[in-house]
Amino acid sequence: MTSSPHPATTDLAFTRESPYGTIAEPTYSGALSFMRRRYSRDLAGVDVAVVGVPFDLATTHRPGARFGPRAIREASTMLAWAPPDGWDFDPFDLLHVVDYGDLYFDSGRPADIPEVVAAGYAPLVEAGVVPLTLGGDHFVSFPVLKALSARHGPLALVHFDAHSDTWADSEGRIDHGTMFFHAARLGYVDPSASIQLGMRTRNPDEHGYRVLDARWMHEHGTDATIGQIHARVGSRPCYVSFDIDFLDPAYAPGTGTPVVGGFSSAQALRLLRGLDGLDIRGMDVVEVAPPYDHAGISALAGASVAQELLCAFAAARRPKAARSPGG
Ligand code: MN
Ligand code: MN
Repeated sequence: MTSSPHPATTDLAFTRESPYGTIAEPTYSGALSFMRRRYSRDLAGVDVAVVGVPFDLATTHRPGARFGPRAIREASTMLAWAPPDGWDFDPFDLLHVVDYGDLYFDSGRPADIPEVVAAGYAPLVEAGVVPLTLGGDHFVSFPVLKALSARHGPLALVHFDAHSDTWADSEGRIDHGTMFFHAARLGYVDPSASIQLGMRTRNPDEHGYRVLDARWMHEHGTDATIGQIHARVGSRPCYVSFDIDFLDPAYAPGTGTPVVGGFSSAQALRLLRGLDGLDIRGMDVVEVAPPYDHAGISALAGASVAQELLCAFAAARRPKAARSPGG
């Protein structure tokens, strides 16, 4: 008991010397950055910045997703000790990833928040850094898409959710069920190259999106679904948005608007591995609401989805010889 642990193996959120690689540290202690990456707002050389947006004022049912970023970071410490299963590489050998912390906004001025959040992403977009956003309710995707589309043009949206989030309403409303209607209307996304997956609430107006509902997906399976995603998006620059209520409430009860008949975490991981080959410019995990969670399973699911998204993005950076078809 004469030696203390080397500083590089504890509190990696601020002691990490290299941005690359996976280092094990105790899962139960230390500063809770996402996957133990370094907290930093220095974007020099950064490939991906993990950004928390603790906003849930757009929820129509149960709030609580403002606690999502913190819970996902905590759950991610259980995943951070080793490279992910299911891929033939460690994303942290290929990518310089930092935890950018949470964006600040004044909850007393809700009407200003979309612009404040979009402005918060502008430095990342300018630096060519790909954001991995931890929500927050699903509305947070809207200002992120606004910021990203200013650089990339209308993005192809790959949207996992129980809900379409394309209900038509009037401009300026802040609602987590309508923002993909506005994102299409305003040219942040191109619905003709976009696909929505897992819907199990009825919205007769698809607004030009391709919609695969949960019943179709359960009937045809994950491989057919992956084929549909690639056929729709192709090589277009895309944004992947994952509402945790895509999962069945049995796998993610901690969310504001759960809907039965959804997907297992294993099915979700398989689908996310199928995103290998897409040209991903941004991604998010939203609607994790810890107040309704049990045993932290929804937060763990959220952290795992974020890890898979990171891998799907990193896949394009792996050496060509290591690539295997189908991810
Ligand atoms: Mn949603
Ligand atoms: Mn939803």
